[in-house]
Amino acid sequence: MYQLSVEESFASAHQLRGYKGKCEKLHGHNWRVILTVRGDSLDSVGLLVDFGELKAIVRKICAVFDHQFLNEIPPFTDINPSSENLARIIATMAAQEIGLLGRDICVESVTIYESENSKCTYLSERNDKKS
Ligand SMILES: [Zn+2]
Repeated sequence: MYQLSVEESFASAHQLRGYKGKCEKLHGHNWRVILTVRGDSLDSVGLLVDFGELKAIVRKICAVFDHQFLNEIPPFTDINPSSENLARIIATMAAQEIGLLGRDICVESVTIYESENSKCTYLSERNDKKS
């Protein structure tokens, strides 16, 4: 099994609803996103997937959130834009994009750094299509 990871970052503001503490106030982060995919089979060139294709996906997703107030972007109008929710939503968005590539790979995880020392990793559910 192979894992490939690409990294991208974006800057955005958020505030946590129903939370007592610093993060209930409007503030921003330079979020770092690490998208990891996995798969078993390499193509004729010897690649699981082209890094360029993965980078394009993570860039496209980060562009949706860059320089935005996350609380105003669905689904964060309804759920809190916590690192945990952000990681899961980005994993879902990435899975849709990766499906379009038509390769035998899937999202393994999305890690979000909201600061240099604080990160959250969402592990995708394993639904291997092995028959
Ligand atoms: Zn925050």
